[in-house]
Amino acid sequence: MKKITIAIDGFSSTGKSTLAKQLAKHLGYVYVDTGAMYRAIALFAMQNGYINSELFDKEKLIASLPSIKLQFKFNSDLGFAEMYLNDTNVEKEIRTIEVSSFVSKVAEISEVRAKLVEQQKEMGKDKGVVMDGRDIGTVVFPDAELKIFMTASAATRAQRRYDELTEKGDDVSFEEVLHNVEERDYIDTHRDNSPLVRAEDAIEIDNSYLSREEQFDVVLGLVNEIIEAN
Ligand code: C5P
Repeated sequence: MKKITIAIDGFSSTGKSTLAKQLAKHLGYVYVDTGAMYRAIALFAMQNGYINSELFDKEKLIASLPSIKLQFKFNSDLGFAEMYLNDTNVEKEIRTIEVSSFVSKVAEISEVRAKLVEQQKEMGKDKGVVMDGRDIGTVVFPDAELKIFMTASAATRAQRRYDELTEKGDDVSFEEVLHNVEERDYIDTHRDNSPLVRAEDAIEIDNSYLSREEQFDVVLGLVNEIIEAN
């Protein structure tokens, strides 16, 4: 069967990765979480003292980019790939609220975006990929056969992220999570390089009131239509 490229973009915590993983598993496609790549670079900057609440040394981070190796390695127990930063599994560390609070500032840097977009294009060059992020349908794969743009209210999204973090044992308040979601939305939609916008040919899904199953069924229907038409 012909393989296609599926680009899923949208605001923070809209359930992009849940949908992308479901689709990849069902279709036997590769899933790429591009947010994990930006998060790993933010973690690197934190570990090296290039970013904290008082400072951000962009020049040092840019100069270090060639020495940063990012890899996804498939974990068959979990059923998805985990993020490795310079050969260390950082899947847990990149999901903390601290990383979330710095990642959008790191993602504004053009040199960071250029490095990651190049790697993402390479990972999807043979199609059969579901990639989620903020600029997949607009910049990484403007010719993707299917583009989805996901939205939901900020309160709904913050609640989901709050539940996820507290379930893992993170000590956060709902207000802190809501603030982080709103701040990232603002930075992601206002940056000069590849801001988060809906591609003209993307199909918008507001999942504030859709269950995971309903959302999956809607999108799988679209995938099947496209595969049959191709
Ligand atoms: O998807 P996730 O919420 O993990 O992404 C973390 C951050 O990485 C986003 O808030 C955004 O600033 C950045 N990002 C991006 N472009 C992408 C994916 C993520 O700028 N393609």
